[in-house]
Amino acid sequence: MKLIYSPFISSYDFGSGHPFRGDRFPSFISFIFRRREPFEVIGYLGDPPKLDDLTAVHSLKYLEELKRKSYMNYGMISLDTPVFKDMWEAALNLVHSSLSTVRVALKDGSAAGFGGAHHASIGYGGGFCLINDIAVAARWAQREGKVESIAIFDHDAHHGNGTMDIFYEDDTVLYVSIHQDPTTIYPGVGFARQVGKGKGEGFTVNIPLPPGAGPMSYSMAFEEIVRPIIDSFNPDLLIAHGGSDPHFLDPLTQLYQTLNGLWSIGKWVFELKAKFKAELLISGYNPKIRNWGWLSILRGFSNMKMSYNPLDVEGEVPLEDGNIIRRSKLAIDDAKGILSKYWKLS
Ligand SMILES: [Zn+2]
Repeated sequence: MKLIYSPFISSYDFGSGHPFRGDRFPSFISFIFRRREPFEVIGYLGDPPKLDDLTAVHSLKYLEELKRKSYMNYGMISLDTPVFKDMWEAALNLVHSSLSTVRVALKDGSAAGFGGAHHASIGYGGGFCLINDIAVAARWAQREGKVESIAIFDHDAHHGNGTMDIFYEDDTVLYVSIHQDPTTIYPGVGFARQVGKGKGEGFTVNIPLPPGAGPMSYSMAFEEIVRPIIDSFNPDLLIAHGGSDPHFLDPLTQLYQTLNGLWSIGKWVFELKAKFKAELLISGYNPKIRNWGWLSILRGFSNMKMSYNPLDVEGEVPLEDGNIIRRSKLAIDDAKGILSKYWKLS
C-alpha cells in the first residue's frame, strides 16, 4: 500500500495550544518507519490544485476571503479556527495531498494519504477546516472523466457538514457518515432526516450514534446501513476518511471506539465494493493514541492484521453497556426507517 506524504503538509498548523498541529503528520511517518511498517511512503503526484479545481467546490468569494485573511495573517475563520501564517498555502498543500492520494488510487486501485477537511463548505470554513480537499479531489476525478459515481464514507467522530452541503443535491456523489449525535457535539448537524435534496434526495446518509457508542454500535451501523447502501450504489471511487478521534481516549469526543474498532473500520473500507479506493487520515487529538489509531485504520485498509497488542497501548477499554447498545439501536433503526425509502435495507 502506498502512503502519500510531503513534509510540507506540516505547515497546516494552528499553533501551540491548538489541538490541530502540523507535526502530527511527520510524527506518524517517523512512527511507521521506526516500526518498519510495510507501507511505501511516496511524495505527491501531479500538479497542485488549480483555481478551477477549487471553484468546482467553493465560491470564489470565499476563496478570496481566505487568501486575503492569510496574507494579512490576522483574524478568525470561525471561533475554533484562527488564521495562521501562510494558511492559504497550507490549505492548498492539504488539497494537493488528497488529490495525490486519489490520483494514486486511480492508478493502483487503492492508496492512503492525509486529508479530510470535511467541515469546509461552499462559502464557509470552520472546525479546523479551510478548503474541502475531499470534495475538490472528488470533483477533480469526475471532471477529468476518470470516474462517474463516487461514495464518500466519513468515519470521523464529527459529522462532515461541509461535505454534506457541497453534495446535498447531487446524485453522483453519495455521502455516508457515522458520527457522534450532533445534539452533543460540533458541528450540530448530521441528523438521519437530512437525506439530500432534489436529485440528491437519498444520497446523503447520516447515522448519528449516542455518546458512549463503541465497536458494537459501529458494527451494527455498518452492517445494517453503510455496507448495503455503498455496495448497492457500487461507486467507481470510494473516498473514506477520518482518524482516531472516535477513540475513547480522544479529548474532543465522547465516543468509545477502541484501537481494534478503528482497525475494523479500515477493514470495512477494504471490503466495500468500489473500483478505486482512497483512505485519508486527519483527526486524532490525543497524541498517545493518534499514531496507533491511524496505524490500525491503515492496517485494516491494507487487509493486514494488527501489528501490536492494543492492551499495551490503550489499557482496559470502557464497557459499551446495554443502555448504550439500546440507544445506538434506536438511532440505527430510526436512520433505517428514513433511508429504506431510498435503499433496500433488511
Ligand atoms: Zn473529527
